[in-house]
Amino acid sequence: MPRPIEALIHTDALAHNLQRARAGAPDSRVWAVVKANAYGHGVERAFTGLRAADGFALLDLEEAQRLRALDWRGPILLLEGCFEPRDLETCSRLNLWHVVHDETQIDWLAAHKTHQPHRVFLKMNSGMNRLGFRPESTRAAWARLNALPQVAEVSLMTHFSDADGERGIAHQMAVFDAATRDLPGERCVANSAAVLRHAREAGVAADWVRAGILCYGSAPDFPAHDIVHWGLRPTMTLRTKLIATQALQPGDSVGYGSTFVADAPMTIGIAACGYADGYPRHAGTGTPVLVEGVRTRTVGRVSMDMLAVDLGPVPQAGLGSEVTLWGDGPNGARLPIDEVAHAAGTIGYELMCALAPRVPVRAVPLAS
Ligand SMILES: *Cc1c(COP(=O)(O)O)cnc(C)c1O
Repeated sequence: MPRPIEALIHTDALAHNLQRARAGAPDSRVWAVVKANAYGHGVERAFTGLRAADGFALLDLEEAQRLRALDWRGPILLLEGCFEPRDLETCSRLNLWHVVHDETQIDWLAAHKTHQPHRVFLKMNSGMNRLGFRPESTRAAWARLNALPQVAEVSLMTHFSDADGERGIAHQMAVFDAATRDLPGERCVANSAAVLRHAREAGVAADWVRAGILCYGSAPDFPAHDIVHWGLRPTMTLRTKLIATQALQPGDSVGYGSTFVADAPMTIGIAACGYADGYPRHAGTGTPVLVEGVRTRTVGRVSMDMLAVDLGPVPQAGLGSEVTLWGDGPNGARLPIDEVAHAAGTIGYELMCALAPRVPVRAVPLAS
C-alpha cells in the first residue's frame, strides 16, 4: 500500500470561487491567474474548474503551451512578458498576449517579424516598485508601442502593493489615473484582494480583473477576513492517516528537540505527513488539524515525514484514522489553509505552491 497521504483538487470549488470573482466585478472580464502551476493545483486540473474564465494569466511559456494543448483558444496573458527576443516567436505562434514593462521589451518587439500584430499590456509602476514604467515614462512607452506595426492593441495595467491591507490602493489608483487619463485602451488593475475589498471604488474593476488566490480558496487578507466571510471554498485538501499512536505520561516529550512536554496523561497520533510533503516545518505546537473531522492541534516539531497530533478531542481515533492537514475533512468539517499558514507565519499562497512532488494529487471531478 502506498503511503496514505494525498492531495485532492476540488474542481467544483474552483468554479464556485471563479463565480465569486465575477460577482465581485460583474462588468469586468476575469483573468484566472494560473501561474506557478496554478498555485500548486496543476494547470490541467485547475483548467477543468476554471474554464469559464475569460482568459488565463501566467508567467511561463511552457504553461501557456499546456493551456493551448488543452484546446484553450481564448486569451492567455504573460504577466512578466517576454524574457528574451525569441519568446516573441512563441507569442506569435501560440497567440499569447504579453505584458510590456521595460523599454528593452519594446526594442525586441520593434525588431520582431510577425504576421499577426500582438496584443500587449503596458505595465505601469504606480508604487509597487517591482515591474513597470514610471508614471512619467508611461505616455512615451505607450506612444512607441502604439506606433509599432507589430502591435495591434495596447492595454494598460498596474499592480497593487497593499490591496489586502490598511494602506489600501487609493494612492496607487491616483498615480495610475493621472498618468493614463487620456490614453485609450483597456485597463486591468485589480488582483484578488482588490476584487474582494475595493471593486466598488472608481476604476478598480475596470475592463479586466486578475483573480489569483481567491480562485484557490484562500483569503488574501487573512486573518482580517476568512474564506467564509468572502464566500470562498477550499480547492485543495491535503489529507493522510494516523500510522501510530502513543500514550504519554506527564513529563514525556514529543519529537525532535523535545519542544512539547506532556503535563498530564494524553494520547497522541502520528500522521504520515511532514515537511517533505510540503507541510510547513514552522508550524509549531497548536497548529489546527482535523482528525476524523474533529478539530485538534499538532504537538511538537514537524519532522520530514511525520507530525504528531493531540487525540484529546478524538479519543476514538487510532491507526488508520483520517487526518486533514487543510481543506475539506469528513462530515462537512473544514480547515482553511489560511489557518495553518498563519500558525506557521506564512500565507496560504506559499503552502499551496509548496505542495511537494511526492504527494499524489487527484482531481475530484465536477459534479454533473
Ligand atoms: C500573481 C499576480 C496576480 C494575482 O494575485 P492574487 O493576489 O493571487 O490575486 C495578479 N497580478 C499579477 C501581476 C500577478 O503577478
